[in-house]
This record gives sequence, C-alpha cells and structure tokens, in this order.
Amino acid sequence: MAKYIFVTGGVTSSLGKGIIAASLGKLLLERGLKVTIQKFDPYINVDPGTLNPYEHGECYVTDDGAETDLDLGHYERFLNIPTSQANNVTTGRIYQTVISKERRGDYLGKTVQIVPHITNEIKRRFRLLEYKGDYDIIITELGGTVGDIESLPYLEALRQLKRDLPKNDVLTIHLTLIPYLKTSQELKTKPTQHSVKELLHVGIQPDILACRTERPITDEIKEKLALFCNVRKQDVIEAIDAETIYDVPLLLQKENLDDIVLEKLDMPNKVEAKLTTWKEHLKKLKNPKHTVNIALVGKYIELMDSYKSIIESFIHAGANNETKVNVIPVKAEELSKNTAEILKNVTGILVAPGFGERGIEGKLNAVKYARENNIPFLGICLGMQIAVIEFARNVLNLENANSTEFDSKTPHPVIDLMQEQVNLINKGGTMRLGAYKCTLDKNSKTAKYYGTTEIQERHRHRYEFNNKYIDQFEAKGLKAVGKNPVSNLVEVVEYKDHPFFIGVQFHPEYKSRVVKPHPLFIAFIKAALEKQNNK
Ligand code: GLN
Repeated sequence: MAKYIFVTGGVTSSLGKGIIAASLGKLLLERGLKVTIQKFDPYINVDPGTLNPYEHGECYVTDDGAETDLDLGHYERFLNIPTSQANNVTTGRIYQTVISKERRGDYLGKTVQIVPHITNEIKRRFRLLEYKGDYDIIITELGGTVGDIESLPYLEALRQLKRDLPKNDVLTIHLTLIPYLKTSQELKTKPTQHSVKELLHVGIQPDILACRTERPITDEIKEKLALFCNVRKQDVIEAIDAETIYDVPLLLQKENLDDIVLEKLDMPNKVEAKLTTWKEHLKKLKNPKHTVNIALVGKYIELMDSYKSIIESFIHAGANNETKVNVIPVKAEELSKNTAEILKNVTGILVAPGFGERGIEGKLNAVKYARENNIPFLGICLGMQIAVIEFARNVLNLENANSTEFDSKTPHPVIDLMQEQVNLINKGGTMRLGAYKCTLDKNSKTAKYYGTTEIQERHRHRYEFNNKYIDQFEAKGLKAVGKNPVSNLVEVVEYKDHPFFIGVQFHPEYKSRVVKPHPLFIAFIKAALEKQNNK
C-alpha cells in the first residue's frame, strides 16, 4: 500500500507546484523512502506533444517515449528516478479512455457522466503507479488552480479518494500565494483564505498550507492563516522565493515539511535527509570560479521555459565546472544578418531543437560561424540537422542541400523523413520517441566524454540524417560517430578539425541530473572555458 500526497495550487498559477512536489519528493527519498511523482493536467490535449512551446513550455520526453509536461523534467532532475507514461495524465487522456469504453459497450445501458465515470477513471489513474512499482509514497501534482472549471473533476476525485482510503493515507498540501503590498507594507492572507474556502466548497480540507512569499512569514501571519484556514499553526509552511530552485528542498526542510508529512501519514520518522551530494552541488553553484557566455540559438526564446531542460543542464554542468554559465538567448531570425557581431562575446553556441522553417537561415549562420571560428558548438536534434545542412552547402558544395522538412524538392535531401514516418497521418505521439541505444565510435571525442561506447538517449523527431550522403561527409571530416546498432540511423556527428563540434540527433538535456550532470554538457562547458582562456 502506498500513501498519497496531493499538491494543489491556489490564488494563481506559476507558484511552483512542480518544484514543491519535486523538493518534497527529494527529502522523502533521502530518508530512504521509495517515492514517485505524477502530474495530472486539466487540458483536453491527450498529451502536450501537440502543443506549441509558447503555450506550455518544453515538452519533456521519458524513456518510454511519453511526451509530457515540463514538470516531469523537474521530478527526474531532483529525484534521479525515471518517470513514465503513467506519470503524466491529461483530461484528454481520461476522456479518451472513458469514451472508448463507452463505444466498446462497457457501460451498456448506463448514462456516462462526469461523476462517477470520469472521476472513477481519474481515481484509477491516481493509483496506477501503486500497482506498477513498489512505492511508499506517491506525490500527485494537480495542474491548474483551485476554482478553475476544468480542475473540478480532479478535486472531486481527490475528495472521493480521501473518503475511500484510511485517514492517514492521503494528505493534501495546498500551495498558495501570500502577496506583499508595498503601499501598506504588509503580507496579505485574504487571497489564501478565499482559495481555501474554494477547496472547502468542494469538500477538501487542506492538511498543510505551503505559502509562497517574497518576504518571511511572521508568527502572527501563520497564526492568522491557521485560524482562518482550519489548520494547525505548524502546518503553515513558508515557501519563500529562492535564489535557485535547488535551494527549495533545504528551505522546506528548515520548515520541517518532511517531518510534518510523515507525522500526518503516520509513517516512521527516523532518518534525517542528509542531502550530501545536493549540498556539494549547491556550494559549487553558488561559488563559481569562472564565467562563460553561451548563446542558445532558438526560435522560441521569448519563452525560455521552451528550453527548460537545456537551461537546467547548463546549471548542472556549470556547477560541475565551477563555472557560472550565462545563457544568452539569441533569436534565430536575428542571425540572418550580423551573425559575427551578435555572437562576438560568446565562446559556445548551442543550436536548439525545433520544428518548422522559421529561423532556419539564422541557425545555419550560427553553425557556420561556430565551425569557421573554432567556437565550441553543440547541436541538439534540429540543431544537429542544421549542422549537417550547413556542412553540405558550404563544405561539400551541395547547392540548396536541405532537410525535406523545409524543402520537399531539394536536390540534396541530406536530412530526410524516416521511412516509418512516410505514411503517418496522425500527428500526436507518432514521432520517433523515447530511449534508443546508440553505439559510439571508440575513437570519437563523444565516446571519450561519455567514458563508454554504449549509450542510451531519448529522442523526439521525424527526420534523420540521410545515409546516402555519409561517405561524402566523412571524406571531408564530418564523421558519423554514433549510430543506432539496429536501424543504423546516425545519432551523433562530430567534426574532426575543431575543438568541439558535435551534433546529436537525441536530446541529452532530458537526462542531466543534479547529482549526475550530463557528460556532453560538462565537456561543452569545459571547451567553452578553454576557448575563453585562449581568447
Ligand atoms: N524538426 C526536426 C524533426 O522532426 C527536429 C525535431 C527536434 O528538434 N526535436 O526531425
């Protein structure tokens, strides 16, 4: 039997439910408990794979190929435990299941309704991981904000679950905002009181209040919140703005959140969470000896959440190198002219993943500039494909070489649609997704960085390197040093006459962890530092 912790959000979105869930998960994990975290999202898309990054930030991909919400990235980075398809559920998926059952005749004769049919399906999914893994605690983040129409079925399912299971098996943490009013110079509790009322209205009494605040919460405020929201004073937890998200587990530990949770769940509370490696990481993160400027070239840079995992990977790899990494967002379109001028202060260039033609010319210029000026370059997914196109055009002199994604009639389709993609009609969940094996050439730099020739990385793409051109590329020095052992798809290219020029068809950023920064990012930052020292 697993115990359940639910995290709901009040007053406003973007309070950091994902970080609170991940931080609490980390504290419990460090105490020796088996923990997993799942997220339920109230939108009708079956998964976030079909969403433009501007809508919802990055789409995070798991080993089993689920396209998920970016909070799952936080869960994996904090806990260093892989998540799966079952860890992210949307309203779309719930309805899809119920409607298919209805069509099959599973409810024959019955009127299918939100209560009980949709809520039963939500409850089934709340508990799915309990049967899949042997967990002590399952933390569930409920997306959205209390009071939203679309959140209601989830809250109703939670109310029922609290009733179905023994008293000490389910608890609710309500993350809320305590705004500070400059004019009156005080923290205000009213929005939280209203939000808790909203929860009570649907039959849920929160057990713990986590109060997001920019200023320390006084005893008086805690008392007031406790009184009006019907919780004990010690169950009002301060969640103060942190310098980095990686401070949050320590801040919550100071507030005794893990002790309180274990007490309420009636679980033994013996070992303290030590967080040794975590603290070492924080120490390095906060005391950098060097600084490097890295350009992140992409088309969604107005919303940097579109590149969440890449940015976090830089933070992990930077700390590992005792280096502050200044990630400079560069809008791909702007590089269509003045490339050298825009990139003159960076000693590393990352060309980001992406879809569609916008910004391609600018990205090609960024790659050319990196290649010709020996600037460390890392191309991820589309970034790798751009590196291949640039090399084809400017080194192999294949005029108008392109990816068929951007020019279906190109005379030189150096990047082409994968065979299994040709006849696909549906867009959702049909890319090459999830973890695939890759064998690295033992003499490659990439193998040296990984410290092995057998790796496994996650994918999300439809197009691939066209193997018909492989000899031409290799003759001029762009080597295919990583291949899938079964399909022979090219996964890594490396330019030999360059200090660091690597393109990867997979997404290394999905596998960087606080306690295990990704080797490619570590090596990339090292190369950028060297470039800077030689400048
Ligand atoms: N658009 C490219 C493809 O589908 C790259 C995808 C990506 O960068 N994730 O292959």
